[in-house]
Amino acid sequence: MAKYKMILDLDTGVDDALAIAYALATPECDLIGIVCSYGNVITKQAAQNSLDLLAALGRPDIPVFMGATHSSTTNHFDVMPISQTIHGMNGIGDVTLPTAKRSIEAQNGVDFYVEAAHKYQGSLLIVPTGPLTNLAAAIKKDPEIVNLIGHVTLMGGALTVPGNVNPVTEANINQDPEAANDVFRSELPLTMIGLDVTLRTLLTKKETAKWREIGTDSAISYANIVDYYIDSYKVTSPHLKGCALHDPLAVAAAVDPSLVQTIYLNMKVDTKGAYAGRTIGDEKRINDPATTTQVAVNVDSSRFVKMFMQKLSNLFKQN
Ligand code: CA
Repeated sequence: MAKYKMILDLDTGVDDALAIAYALATPECDLIGIVCSYGNVITKQAAQNSLDLLAALGRPDIPVFMGATHSSTTNHFDVMPISQTIHGMNGIGDVTLPTAKRSIEAQNGVDFYVEAAHKYQGSLLIVPTGPLTNLAAAIKKDPEIVNLIGHVTLMGGALTVPGNVNPVTEANINQDPEAANDVFRSELPLTMIGLDVTLRTLLTKKETAKWREIGTDSAISYANIVDYYIDSYKVTSPHLKGCALHDPLAVAAAVDPSLVQTIYLNMKVDTKGAYAGRTIGDEKRINDPATTTQVAVNVDSSRFVKMFMQKLSNLFKQN
């Protein structure tokens, strides 16, 4: 039986699609739902992508919920041109998947969070790999869940390396610094999987060629989706020589924390001025006796990429 119940919170672009596949290929966790947000695409597209990917991977039974459609401090969201360059206009490398039969759930993602926290408590793992707007809204709606949720392992932020939006700001945090600050400064047991580690876990066309050899529908679709992403990295980050496995690394570290080395540090997010969106130690809580936040600063990338390829290849063979 699965040890954990997992909720993914996605702005379903290419690496979110890889996070879904990784979660489905990990028997220690039971993916109980996907909550969607805006970011790489608008929320509705993120939800449809999630449904279509789940169906393509043989799991049309998993529910998908709509979350926030814009940040906590705005009333509108437009996809940034750079997101369209990296993830394609539809978020999944402009690959067309068969439309899933299942519809988006009527229940809102924030309510699903609250319900699941009470139901599953310590066995609930939450893995947000987009803006933190939904999780911040959930802890605001029911502050008690902070003490119920087992662990939050999020992809976002940068502590020891520059940001990817500006020198101090990473893209997920940049979408809603206020929400991210609420999450970081809460007492949620939290691990930040930021650019510090995700930029060290890379995939190349050598790996996607192996998926093509598998030859199933899901393998070919994922190879096409990720090749688009690898091509965009050649333009935006030619020094990397591959694409970063941001979001699936967060799923992997949620289930197997030994993949990353962390430091314990109470964190905050700057919300205003030149440093808005910066994830940094909270000077006001630096001497607090209880530190609930860990920041990953190193990763066993060869073990992760090997595991990633094994798990996804096995999953694609079955679908
Ligand atoms: Ca994402």
